[in-house]
Amino acid sequence: MSIKENLNKIKSTLPEHVTLVAVSKTKPVSDLMEAYNANQRIFGENKIQEMAEKHEVMPKDVEWHMIGHVQRNKVKYMAPFVSLIHGVDNFKLLAEINKQAQKNDRIIDCLFQIKIAEEDSKFGMSPKEASEIIQYEDFLELKNIRITGVMGMATFTDDQIQIEKEFKLLKSTFEALKKLDSENCKLKTISMGMSGDFKLAIEFGSTMIRVGSSIFGSRNYN
Ligand SMILES: *Cc1c(COP(=O)(O)O)cnc(C)c1O
Repeated sequence: MSIKENLNKIKSTLPEHVTLVAVSKTKPVSDLMEAYNANQRIFGENKIQEMAEKHEVMPKDVEWHMIGHVQRNKVKYMAPFVSLIHGVDNFKLLAEINKQAQKNDRIIDCLFQIKIAEEDSKFGMSPKEASEIIQYEDFLELKNIRITGVMGMATFTDDQIQIEKEFKLLKSTFEALKKLDSENCKLKTISMGMSGDFKLAIEFGSTMIRVGSSIFGSRNYN
């Protein structure tokens, strides 16, 4: 099936309140344009440099989401245009995003990446750390960022019960953090679910799914 057919098939199954991020990392601009021409406007990348290069050549109404781990020294390269940063997992990073957003006279939306998987390799903070950060006095000073939700990645496993447990944890973390609403913290988004588990994620409360291989085919990292 073509990229367009894949996209249309996925979109036809999504409830209205769920946003689809087309994860285009490693894929050529021609593939992204095929998705664009099928009306996809939100793209997710996991490397800042690659995202910036694609942003240069793609139409300007594309919304770029950074879904990967973010290095502080590279924030400046995406600050002028990024529309949502999914992988914020510490306060220092948040402060840098705020600084760069300010330079660009913007407010940048961010998600807190919560560690829900059992695997050690997954980035993210604990629910407790997230709620502590929101309650820092210094946090309220960050007027050029806005926390709009949480993001999580489930363990890579066939064990459905395990995955459900992790999705439930992200959903309950979202509900708890939502109570700490402030000027720069307005939670509405739960970013969870990828090609293999987005249907389950939606059942458990996802409002934003990040789908790559089911749209663009498998990735070749060579
Ligand atoms: C690559 C990636 C995805 C998409 O994965 P697929 O299995 O190809 O759908 C989603 N989220 C993150 C954070 C990723 O790095």
